[in-house]
Amino acid sequence: MNVYDSARMADVLAPLGYVPVSDAAGADMVILNTCHIREKAAEKVYSELGRLNVLKDEMKQGGGRMILAVAGCVAQAEGEEMIRRAPYVDMVFGPQTYHRLPQMVAELSRHAGAVLDTDFPSEPKFDSLPEAAAVPGATAFLTVQEGCDKFCTFCVVPYTRGAEYSRPPDSVLTEARKLAQAGVREITVLGQNVNNYHGHSPDGGTWTLGRLIAGLAGIDGLDRLRYTTSYPADMDDDLIAAHRDIPELMPFLHLPVQTGSDKVLAAMNRRHSADDYRRLVEKLRRARPDMAVSSDFIVGFPGESDADFEATLKLVEEIGFVQAYSFKFSARPGTPAATIETQVPETLKAERLAVLQDMLNRQQRAFNESCVGRTLPVLLDRVGRYPGQLAGRSPYMQSVHVDAPQDLLGEIVELHLVAAHDNSLTARPLPSTPDGAGSIERVYA
Ligand code: SAH
Repeated sequence: MNVYDSARMADVLAPLGYVPVSDAAGADMVILNTCHIREKAAEKVYSELGRLNVLKDEMKQGGGRMILAVAGCVAQAEGEEMIRRAPYVDMVFGPQTYHRLPQMVAELSRHAGAVLDTDFPSEPKFDSLPEAAAVPGATAFLTVQEGCDKFCTFCVVPYTRGAEYSRPPDSVLTEARKLAQAGVREITVLGQNVNNYHGHSPDGGTWTLGRLIAGLAGIDGLDRLRYTTSYPADMDDDLIAAHRDIPELMPFLHLPVQTGSDKVLAAMNRRHSADDYRRLVEKLRRARPDMAVSSDFIVGFPGESDADFEATLKLVEEIGFVQAYSFKFSARPGTPAATIETQVPETLKAERLAVLQDMLNRQQRAFNESCVGRTLPVLLDRVGRYPGQLAGRSPYMQSVHVDAPQDLLGEIVELHLVAAHDNSLTARPLPSTPDGAGSIERVYA
C-alpha cells in the first residue's frame, strides 16, 4: 500500500510542477514513505534521514533548497517527536493526510519551522485526491479499503492507518477502468483488511469484496485480479464463491494465520481458532481445487511455549503453504502485547524462526518443483535480470523467468516450466517471432 500511496503523492504534487526522479541527490523534494509494522522497519527511517540530510546540505551550499519530508506510519506514530529528533525534517504527515501536500508546501514557504499533519480527517482523503495518473506497466495496485478495526494485540495498524474505511465501488471501478485503458492487465486490490470491504453504492446498497471483484472482472482488458491482505474470520461465502465462479480471480490467497496455537491466537485477539483456519482453507479448496495459500507468521509472541510453537509447525505441515512471511514478535509501542510480562527471549525467537522458515522454505520449494513439466499462463510484467530475459508471475504468484522476445512484455503467455528454484521457476525459452507482437492466443508450449 505504501507503493500505491507514493504514486498518489506524486499525483497530488504534479499540478505544482513536481515530477518523480530516480535519484534523491539534487531533488527539490524527498519524501520518505515509512512503515511502522515492526521495529526493524521503523528504525531504518532515522538512518536514512541522516543520509538524506547530507544531500540537503549539499543542495543548500549550491544555493538550492531540498524539502525533506517523512510520510507514512512512522510519521503518524512519532509526529512531533520526529521533528525533535531530526530537526532538519521539513514536513511530517501520516497516511490519511497526504492529499493536503499542496497546503503543506504553501505553509512551509510562509513560516519558519516544520509542518506537521498527523490528523485523521473526517472526510476521507480519496474524496480530494486527483485522478490517479496512468501507471506504466501491466500490473497495478488499487487501494479499496484502508485501516483496521480488529485490534490484534501485536499490531499498530489501527493506531497508524486509523479506522476501517471502504471506498465507494463506483470510484474504485472508475479508477480500474482508467488503469485498464492504460494497458494494465492485472490489478491487485489492496486493503489492510481487504476482505471486510463494504463499499456504499449511490443506490444505498453495500458491496462486498466478492461483488466488487465481479464488477472489476467485467472491465475490458483486465485479465487478472488479486487482493491482499485478508483476515481469516472475514472470508465470507460471497468471496469464496468468487474464487469458484470468476476466472479472472487468481487461485492464490494470502491469508495470515500468525500462529497455530489457540491459546496464542486468543492472546492475539485473532477471533479464529487453528481449526477455523483449517476448515476455511478446506472450503476454499472445495471452491477452487488448485487454490494456493500463503500466510504470515509471528513467532515468540509473549507467553508462547514450546507446545504452542509445535502447534504452529503442525498447522504448517497440514496446510502446505506455497509461500509465507514469518517474523519474530516485535513489541510495538502502544500495543497491548508490548507490555505483557512473559516476553520470549530473543535467542529463543531466533531459534523458532529458523525452524519455521526452514519448513516453509521446503514447502515453497516443493510447490515450485511440482510445477515443473506443467504449462502455465504467465503475465510477463518486467524485464529479467539478464539481457534477452523477461520475468512474470504464474497464476500462483510464482516468479517465472524466460528467454523471450522483448515485445512480449505485458503479455500473458503460456509457458512450459522446466526448472524450479527456491523463489522462482525457469520456463523453456521462446523463439523470436518474425510476425511482431505476441498475443494471448499465441501458445508456445
Ligand atoms: N492486516 C494484515 C497484515 C498486517 S502487517 C493482518 O492483520 O493480517 C503484515 C504482517 O506483519 C502481519 O500479518 C504479521 O504477521 C506481521 N506483524 C504485524 N505486527 C507485528 C509485530 N508486532 N511483530 C511481528 N510481526 C508483526
